[in-house]
Amino acid sequence: MKRCVLVGYPLDHSLSPLMQSAAFKATGLSHKFEYRAWPLRSEKLSWLINAMKHGEIHGANVTMPHKSKILEHSLTLSHSAISVGCVNTLFLDDNQVVGCNTDLSGFIKAIEESGITIKGQRATVIGSGGAARAVLVGLARLGVQKVTVFNRSRTKAKELTKQMGNEYEARFCSHGLRNIMEKLGESMLLVNCTPIGMRGHAINQTPIPSTLLAEIPVVMDLVYNPIHTRLLREARDAGCRTISGERMLVYQGAASFEIWTGKKAPVEVMHKTVLGALKGADEE
Ligand code: NAP
Repeated sequence: MKRCVLVGYPLDHSLSPLMQSAAFKATGLSHKFEYRAWPLRSEKLSWLINAMKHGEIHGANVTMPHKSKILEHSLTLSHSAISVGCVNTLFLDDNQVVGCNTDLSGFIKAIEESGITIKGQRATVIGSGGAARAVLVGLARLGVQKVTVFNRSRTKAKELTKQMGNEYEARFCSHGLRNIMEKLGESMLLVNCTPIGMRGHAINQTPIPSTLLAEIPVVMDLVYNPIHTRLLREARDAGCRTISGERMLVYQGAASFEIWTGKKAPVEVMHKTVLGALKGADEE
């Protein structure tokens, strides 16, 4: 049996075990692959690397708060991990543990699938953590013209946008989140990359006052639990198109599945599984 694990701490609300197990079942791989949650504190991350090196674990997803911390361990980094600066998927290649980032391709796929064209347009991103980094690289690769980043810690946003500006052609600027009322300029897409609005964190909150939403054609929330976050509900009421975070969740998971199994991921099965679990959570 090839064991895959999800490593993070805590792991209360993750849908990845359900989604990946459904994918193994749908592709007839349940007898060969299994996927389990492994709550692991950061000081124990070396256990994961050793278990992979010894063949006890075939692949892993790495989630909050370890996506950057894992870089302190001896890994070979893929191009995606180097670009984003953090890792969410591990696999073995020639006895080397390789770290890559499938949030990046997951975000790009979710945007492409929505049919919006970001090339030459302006975008606004809220947050400056690991997910925001993947989103900024994704936007740059999609040919965005300018990205304005708002973050609670202005210093972190400033560092991130400076680094992105050095690496990509697009223009990047940053502001403190508390200045969003005065500083929000014209933008065709807004992406929330903070946990604000997430179940168990700040479910009734939103990162941006609803009065600002009418000017933004498309609003995406990376938070996927609940599917209809307060941000997305208010955006819909303001007439915006909305993209829910579960699309990116499914695409990043599908990319990890393909890396571990070498087979095409059953994206629709994975999506249905995630939607079913989220609807169940909404009804609780
Ligand atoms: P992270 O690295 O911990 O970064 C969190 C970001 O949110 C930081 O910029 C932080 O600001 C900001 N933040 C946190 N709490 C806040 C609050 N109460 N008020 C204002 N800002 C706050 O986390 P991450 O990995 O980037 O993940 C961010 C969110 O994206 C999570 O909800 C995660 O579940 C979601 N996500 C979704 C997908 C998907 O596939 N849909 C993929 C990845 C992540 P400071 O810098 O000031 O601390």
